[in-house]
Amino acid sequence: MAANRLDGTACAAAIKSELAPRVSAFVSQHRRAPSLHILLVGDDPASHVYVRNKERAGIETGLQVTVRRMNADSSREQVLGMVHQLNDDPTCDGILVQAPLPASLGRAATQDVFDAISPVKDVDGFHPLNVGLLVQGRATLMPCTPSGVIELLERSKIAIAGTRSVVIGRSEIVGKPMALMLLQRDSTVTICHSRTKDLAGIARDADILVSAIGRPGFVTPDMVKPGATVVDVGISPTADRQLVVSLFGVASERMVGFDKKGTTVVGDVHPGVWSVAGAMTPVPGGVGPLTIALLLKNTLAAAESRAAR
Ligand code: NAP
Repeated sequence: MAANRLDGTACAAAIKSELAPRVSAFVSQHRRAPSLHILLVGDDPASHVYVRNKERAGIETGLQVTVRRMNADSSREQVLGMVHQLNDDPTCDGILVQAPLPASLGRAATQDVFDAISPVKDVDGFHPLNVGLLVQGRATLMPCTPSGVIELLERSKIAIAGTRSVVIGRSEIVGKPMALMLLQRDSTVTICHSRTKDLAGIARDADILVSAIGRPGFVTPDMVKPGATVVDVGISPTADRQLVVSLFGVASERMVGFDKKGTTVVGDVHPGVWSVAGAMTPVPGGVGPLTIALLLKNTLAAAESRAAR
């Protein structure tokens, strides 16, 4: 039997519609909309698409969204200067710096820039203070993607307490915070990464399996306990027809779409897992839409909590 489809698009729409009355209440009380400032440095085409999507979703939800564009040759000092200016702006509630920053800024620049964002405006939840609060289970602003996964599990009535979870991937933005959020909900959590031995055996033990590594089709049916909940965070755009055929089959609906556009987006989880898992997120339409919804939720939370201070 095919796994239940955990519909991230519907869940994101529900979250956004719940934000609308809170945004209206904020506007009537403060005579301005909660505001999100997105800093976009350079010409990375994917970043431009991501920023456009965030801007559109923010405006639809009633937020004021300002995109600050800076040239690819901007210096580290200029980027930090912009962040400090936004930190000092009383009408700015949330700051998001779109990653990746241009390589010319140097390896440490991304960390320096994220660290410079005021923790009360840090709507990505990456500032070390907010990460520390997350570790202690008392953060307000938490990373959007794992928060979105938790919203999806909870709204889909997937029990977390008492389960065994396995998170594949240990990045600061997905894997580590994901594991912490599951732990805080009383799951027993194992984190796997590129040096993990017998990853398949560990994954097979999971009641909740989250994959966030960006390797198409990595999680195969033999790695999944029958009936488990499988969350596919991976997003890999591909123009590789052979890869898409090997994942979905030559006569699949996905191939029809692929042959029209020449590209598609695939997840970390092999489509064969649909016949083993109990519930599963699709790619696209799973975790992706939730990340943006949680960004909007964080922006409103930042605005409300600054206004209450
Ligand atoms: P990242 O920073 O590159 O981290 C990837 C992680 O995967 C690392 O911890 C790495 O292990 C691990 N890994 C890589 N290959 C592996 C393997 N063969 N076996 C086991 N572990 C392996 O990536 P990220 O930023 O967390 O993103 C991960 C994926 O999620 C990407 O596809 C990204 O596009 C997607 N993503 C989606 C959303 C969304 O909105 N849905 C948001 C963010 C990211 P090591 O630490 O040992 O190197």
